[in-house]
Amino acid sequence: MCVLPEICSWRLVTDVLLFRITCRFILRFPKKCVNLAKVSVIVVSQHNKVVLQWIPAHVGIAGNEEADRLAKGGARLPQPHNSTSYKEAKTLLQRKKKENWKKRNGDYNPQEDPINKLDRRSQTTIFRLRTGHCGLKKHLKRLGLADDAHCECGSEEQTPEHILQNCPHLETIRQKFWQEETSVGAKLWGPADELRKTADFLAATGLRI
Ligand SMILES: [Zn+2]
Repeated sequence: MCVLPEICSWRLVTDVLLFRITCRFILRFPKKCVNLAKVSVIVVSQHNKVVLQWIPAHVGIAGNEEADRLAKGGARLPQPHNSTSYKEAKTLLQRKKKENWKKRNGDYNPQEDPINKLDRRSQTTIFRLRTGHCGLKKHLKRLGLADDAHCECGSEEQTPEHILQNCPHLETIRQKFWQEETSVGAKLWGPADELRKTADFLAATGLRI
C-alpha cells in the first residue's frame, strides 16, 4: 500500500473511454477491466481530494485523424539506415552552431576581438560604449534614472558617439588623443591600440561610464 505523506488535490484528466470506466467505479458498478484504475483511485482518494475531469478523445476530429493516417503510413515506409555516431553528431552540431553565429554576426569572431588584449578597466569601458549600456544620459533616461537625455553641452543627446565625436565641451581633450579625424567605428572596433586610446580618453573626460 502506498503511503502518501500529506493531503493534496488530484485532478484526473480522462478521455471518454476512461471516463466511463471511472464513472462506473465511482457509481460502484466495477467491471473487471477497471481494476487497475479502481485500485489507483482508491489509494489516492483515501488521503487526498480527487477530481475527475473529462476531456474529448481525438477520435472523430478531422485533423487528428489525418495526422494519425499519415503517421501510420510513414511508419510503414522503408526506413533508411542512417546511424550517426556520437562524434559525428557532435561535429554536425558544432558546425551548425558556427553557421548560425556567422549568420547573426557576420565575420565577427569574439576570440579574435582586440578587446581581449586590453586590461579589465579598458575592456569594461569599451564594452559599455559599444552596447550603449553605460552611465551616459541617454541610457540613464531610458532606465528612468535621468530626467533629460541631453548632454550638458545642450547640442544633442549624450550618447557614446556624441562623447567620442561631437561634444564641444570635450574637444580639447579629444584633440590630445586624436589629431586626425577618426571614425567612431575605429575608436570602438579598431585595433587594440585604438581601443586603449578610447578607454584612456574616457578616463580623461572624468565621465562616469
Ligand atoms: Zn556634449
